[in-house]
Amino acid sequence: MQPSIVRTSTADLYDAHVLKNYARAALTLVRGRGSLVWDDQGRQFLDFTSGIAVNALGHCHPHWVAAIQRQAGELIHTSNLFRNSNQAELARRLVGYAGPGRVFFCNSGAEANEALLKLARLHGMRKAGGEEGKCYQVICAKQAFHGRTFGGMSATPQEKIQKGFRPMTPGFVFGELNNLASFEALIDESTAAIFVETIQGEGGVNPCTSDFLHGLRRLCDQHNLLLMLDEVQCGIGRTGSFYAFEHVGVRPDAIGMAKGLGGGFPIGAIWVGERAADLFQPGSHGTTFGGTPLACAAALAVLDVLERERLMENVRLNSVRWHADLRQLVADFPKQVVGVRGQGYMVGVQMVAEPPAYVAALREAGLLAPPAGGNVIRLLPPLTATVAELEQSVNLLRGVLASRT
Ligand SMILES: *Cc1c(COP(=O)(O)O)cnc(C)c1O
Repeated sequence: MQPSIVRTSTADLYDAHVLKNYARAALTLVRGRGSLVWDDQGRQFLDFTSGIAVNALGHCHPHWVAAIQRQAGELIHTSNLFRNSNQAELARRLVGYAGPGRVFFCNSGAEANEALLKLARLHGMRKAGGEEGKCYQVICAKQAFHGRTFGGMSATPQEKIQKGFRPMTPGFVFGELNNLASFEALIDESTAAIFVETIQGEGGVNPCTSDFLHGLRRLCDQHNLLLMLDEVQCGIGRTGSFYAFEHVGVRPDAIGMAKGLGGGFPIGAIWVGERAADLFQPGSHGTTFGGTPLACAAALAVLDVLERERLMENVRLNSVRWHADLRQLVADFPKQVVGVRGQGYMVGVQMVAEPPAYVAALREAGLLAPPAGGNVIRLLPPLTATVAELEQSVNLLRGVLASRT
């Protein structure tokens, strides 16, 4: 008897069985190599979405693939009830980048930020002499994005994120990004921490200015607050330094990371500086999956390649010309392009019109680039992207803009 062959397309299966919380592109990706991906029709795309700033080494970097394969055959998961050497080594490497302190591993950006928000509460309790519920406010920025958990959502003051899910978690107030006075005005004895993205990603690639970050550091020192930086999107080499805050020389008390850290394997982490590293005590926080031997092997391979192939140096050097070429588009298409923002391989091209039509046209032309808030098209190449690939992205953008004048 012939088995019945069910001819149902991936698109049909999504339509029938996957929750509708995403407006997905009509594109089924099947294979990737470096900066390129291919769909099930054999079409090739220059992938400057990079899994939303995740695929730091591009697709299937051989060193990273080999590390995952090797570790998968050795030991994949053990829980955090035992030690594993990869977690220990990754913590050592991250402390090397961030400075004296300690690291906790989880599985995503939202989870990393959730841990930071819990850290802020513990700091507030200590600040209030051990009394709970007196000092717990966290000051965040308007247009921020910190994730989809209740803590992350509550720190993300956007209607499209919060709508339908209220009431939010109490304890969040919001200042204007790069307006220090607006943050200072929100500080009172209930304030425990200030929490911002060093460069806002989803909000439209909005960098904190150097003055603003140094001002926040000063306010935190004056009022005994934690300065916590969300580097989930802008961290791990994306801007040409390991952390984006290094460009301005500010020292945070805690850092959230995820996206690029595993190069495509899910992992998140927080680093907590010495001053606050003793706040989490046994039993106060945890996760079943965080810091598995496999996830940490993937992240260690990312750091190996980042260092060996001098990717951050490449990002710094290559982005000078790339940014200049992108800015030329503002001059050449003033009716369509408002401006170009960002640092290194994290760039936002602000458009006059809403980006979805452009994002679709770019995809048709062969470039995958995600939109962001404020009419922005984001360009997030893998850190391995070459000068030729950066040039190609500009040419593809130029072609789409020219076809719409
Ligand atoms: C993506 C992102 C998050 C959320 O990370 P998930 O892994 O999707 O939970 C949080 N903060 C910033 C800045 C992000 O870009």
